[in-house]
Amino acid sequence: MKILAVANQKGGVGKTTTAVNLAAALAELDIKTLLLDLDPQANATSSLGLEPTQGSLYSVLTGETTLYDQIRETTFGPLWVVPAELDLAGCEIEIARDEQPLERLANAITTLPGQLEPDYVIFDCPPSLGVLMTNALAAADAVLVPLQCEYFALEGLSKIAHVIQHVGASRQKGPLELEGILLTMYDVRTNLSQQVVSDVREHFGEKVFDTIIPRSVRISEAPSFGMPVLNHDPEGVGAASYRAFTRELLARHGRPVPA
Ligand code: ATP
Ligand code: MG
Repeated sequence: MKILAVANQKGGVGKTTTAVNLAAALAELDIKTLLLDLDPQANATSSLGLEPTQGSLYSVLTGETTLYDQIRETTFGPLWVVPAELDLAGCEIEIARDEQPLERLANAITTLPGQLEPDYVIFDCPPSLGVLMTNALAAADAVLVPLQCEYFALEGLSKIAHVIQHVGASRQKGPLELEGILLTMYDVRTNLSQQVVSDVREHFGEKVFDTIIPRSVRISEAPSFGMPVLNHDPEGVGAASYRAFTRELLARHGRPVPA
């Protein structure tokens, strides 16, 4: 079981789009995947055609129910979802009072094997450094950072790199790895996009995935149909790019990539 947090405290960089389409692409390869929507905006939940719920993750994090109890099926192969928790404020305050507030999710995850044993667990994190994102980082094996190909892209990166190091140094699970940086919303027509790609590659070298996700209307409209772009526009460039990224990730993990 490999646990990946899709995180970047910067808003609107493609976290949810990446979490949903990575999860869908893994499931398409018949790889058992569990997606946790940790953002009260519930974008990942609705992108898969599900309703956000009240009291789901909240009750898991407070220990009232198990993670397994909150898992929902989707219509996209072996892909399961834990829908978003709407009552973020209540959740943050409640957990903060508990012992080990930042390891709540990590503890909940340890109960999974034996019930549902996914090959991949993916967290869609909210764009803030609050309790939920910290819980995600404390539970993850590695962090996947989507980066929008735009002018201020690099600025937020040093911050997230620092947070990864900090959480890794203080959590029970030990050091946290930067899985890699995925460049998103690349626009071939602009010099700026090309400049950002070369800057990011220069700074982060092999941590940057070869695959770049292009800007695509099909990617951005897929959530309104309640489905991943893989299903909304299976033959399009958006779907192809997320499939290529997923294969690259599997290869990095030394996993056999199905033909
Ligand atoms: P937040 O920080 O609010 O959670 P996010 O980092 O999860 O945002 P997304 O919701 O995935 O970002 O994307 C932000 C917006 O950009 C959405 O409207 C999404 O549909 C759109 N978008 C994401 N990726 C692409 C792409 N490759 N091409 C075009 N639009 C995209
Ligand atoms: Mg999001």
